[in-house]
Amino acid sequence: MLLIAFVHFVASFVSPPNTINTDSLVAAARKNVSAYIDLNNSLTGYYSIDNKGVSIYESANSKLNNKVECKIFWSELPAFKHLLATVSYDSLLSIFKNKGEKKFDFCVAENKNENIIKDTLQLLKGKKIAIDPGHISGDMDLGKIEYKYLRLKKDSLKGIPSPIELIEGNLTLATALFLKEKLELQGATVMLTREKPGQSAFGISYDEWLKNANNKTFEDAYDKKEISLEEKNRFIKKRNRRDIFQTYFKFADMRERALKINNFHPDLTLVVHYNVNEKNIPWTGVTPKNYCMTFVPGNIKNEYFEKPENRLELLRLIITNDIESSISFSSNLTASFEKILEVPLATKKDAEYLEKESLETKGKGVFIRNLALTRLIHGTMVYGESLYQDNEKESKLLSELTTSINGIPTSLRVKQVADAYYDAILKYFLPIPPNK
Ligand SMILES: [Zn+2]
Repeated sequence: MLLIAFVHFVASFVSPPNTINTDSLVAAARKNVSAYIDLNNSLTGYYSIDNKGVSIYESANSKLNNKVECKIFWSELPAFKHLLATVSYDSLLSIFKNKGEKKFDFCVAENKNENIIKDTLQLLKGKKIAIDPGHISGDMDLGKIEYKYLRLKKDSLKGIPSPIELIEGNLTLATALFLKEKLELQGATVMLTREKPGQSAFGISYDEWLKNANNKTFEDAYDKKEISLEEKNRFIKKRNRRDIFQTYFKFADMRERALKINNFHPDLTLVVHYNVNEKNIPWTGVTPKNYCMTFVPGNIKNEYFEKPENRLELLRLIITNDIESSISFSSNLTASFEKILEVPLATKKDAEYLEKESLETKGKGVFIRNLALTRLIHGTMVYGESLYQDNEKESKLLSELTTSINGIPTSLRVKQVADAYYDAILKYFLPIPPNK
């Protein structure tokens, strides 16, 4: 049904396909795979790239038996990109699962003249920007369950007169709200995945969600392979607040963020986080270290491929230039972090997760890292880590609540972080930045 409905919808875009240079498309897809996605060839059972297009297989066995789950022919690439840009995530997934090697019976012209209106006051008119304020907690109580809070002890040597408490979920939310205000003034349409302290991507707090959850919630999660049988039984037997949050809810919340973003079809997505020095556990004292960095998609692991949702993302990352456009925007962002916030750019040796789990890119401070949100969010995206909250200077600046946004008390440092994101966005969409 969905498929039929949307075929009619796009039929109005029909135009004959241009002659396609498949060699360059094959080369670009192979480069995506070898440079960003599958560096040790562990996923070869799930895809193939040839001069006809890109195929995805449910398993290595299906590939051996030539049973294609979804093939996008090169002539269909504009149509596939059009689907990515317009249809709901559910429709996209159902098209992916049902396509096989049948060709779409419509096509879409590529290189439609993009008509961007740039008047002097509305520099971002027509642009859709999604912002995901990382984490959920709005107070120390949930902050402790989420493990996303800092309580730095009073320290006369380091000049901390009284303990400093920081909740990452509130820092990211205030940053997103400042940024939304600035972007909207330039005419952009902005969507936040959550808008209030303590609110999850489901629009309610974790405790409200937990109160509404029943046995069926966990049975459904088990059917969708989101939790194991043992976890399902454990949750039904005992509603442990911390256990359910850490084992299930935080991942469900992340999938909901990605779903909201993908259904919004933004031109750009910013996932906003604040980092800490990973070696400074349990974050009760300050650290002299401070680095900025950003993460982009790639380096996918085959342990995720039991679910068709993840095989769809593999196809998308191979066939689109989402990785390269994300590296390009992220390079702007790390440059803005360094210039506006005066935080040094991280290199691979500066953290264990950079050394062991991430790949360097041509962008300074930009790393490929296989996080749930870098994998699931469609289009150009960045996962930004502007500074270390537990740094000796930053922790003091972040705790000085001298300003506010939407009634949330916050610091001027948070406002500066929003300025750095804003600066990078203007530079990305406009060749020449304003006022320069
Ligand atoms: Zn975070």
